[in-house]
Amino acid sequence: MDSPQSVTPREQGRIITQFIREEGERLRKKYSWLKHQNAIGLTIFISSTTIMILSAYACWLGYLHPVALVITNGIAASLLHELEHDMIHGLYFKDTWVERLMMYGVWIFRGNTPNPYYRKKIHLLHHKDSGQVTDIEEQMIGNGMKFGIARLLTMFDQNLSFLINARRVAKTAPELNPKEMALASFPGMWLYYGALYAFAAIEILLLIGSSLPYLTAIQPYTRLLFWAYVLPNFIRQGSIQLISSNMHYFGDIAPGKDGLVQQTQILRPWWLWPFQLFCFNFGTTHGIHHFVVNQPFYLRQMVAFRAIPFMREHGVRYNDIGSFWRANRYRATAAI
Ligand SMILES: [Zn+2]
Ligand SMILES: [Zn+2]
Repeated sequence: MDSPQSVTPREQGRIITQFIREEGERLRKKYSWLKHQNAIGLTIFISSTTIMILSAYACWLGYLHPVALVITNGIAASLLHELEHDMIHGLYFKDTWVERLMMYGVWIFRGNTPNPYYRKKIHLLHHKDSGQVTDIEEQMIGNGMKFGIARLLTMFDQNLSFLINARRVAKTAPELNPKEMALASFPGMWLYYGALYAFAAIEILLLIGSSLPYLTAIQPYTRLLFWAYVLPNFIRQGSIQLISSNMHYFGDIAPGKDGLVQQTQILRPWWLWPFQLFCFNFGTTHGIHHFVVNQPFYLRQMVAFRAIPFMREHGVRYNDIGSFWRANRYRATAAI
């Protein structure tokens, strides 16, 4: 077997890529249902959106506790997020009206993300330039920033992230156009933040004793929207951004295939499980995706059982918590 010392990082990357590809092919042969990729994608889309609506209705009728609603819808919305990412890589109904419908569907049901076609642009750039100062997607969620208040705000709030980061990142990432990014927030993020601010305004006005009669009539609706849509998506997006921005390395790794093995770590300490729950185990599996992009998210999870030990053996770091305090630098001594 090749030991990590005897081969170049580029060669290690090639060996891991081949293993992941072959493991995917082995599973596709073993489980013939995996062939029906379009049908699987559409089924996940229809069931996740239906679950989000039905659980909201069940809560409205008093059959489901609001906390259960938040958890259910957070997980359902996280599957929609995975579908969007798969569609960015053209894995379901490529270039058809069904894909367009699903792209807008997964956006509206999450809201707090940019237009999926804009995300496609910056995500494909992320694959090309991962860990470099030209990568937009990861820097906009805090990757590469020192730990502190600004980083925490960036990881958990898209609006503040834009205010804190857009101009700074645009200086090193020529493809970032702040105006284009702002326009990509319409209408999804407007819907999302509209629902959030309406909820907050009504709660505060009633709390301070406002006697406007229609406020109490609207309150049950804004509360339901908050429990069914706003809070689940806040938790979902916060979870994926916390994990994603910390499992990618930044700033001191080789570009392209030479840096492939160093682009990500496998991040899965037990205390991150509440967050992994809302992002389909992203910390464990996203590294696999950097090597092979054409496996749908559920197949990637199946591949993970054999791929993770193999990746560790071949030089991919595992639970490098220290990177949290190194602003995600690969080396402890790198300048920040
Ligand atoms: Zn990535
Ligand atoms: Zn991707």
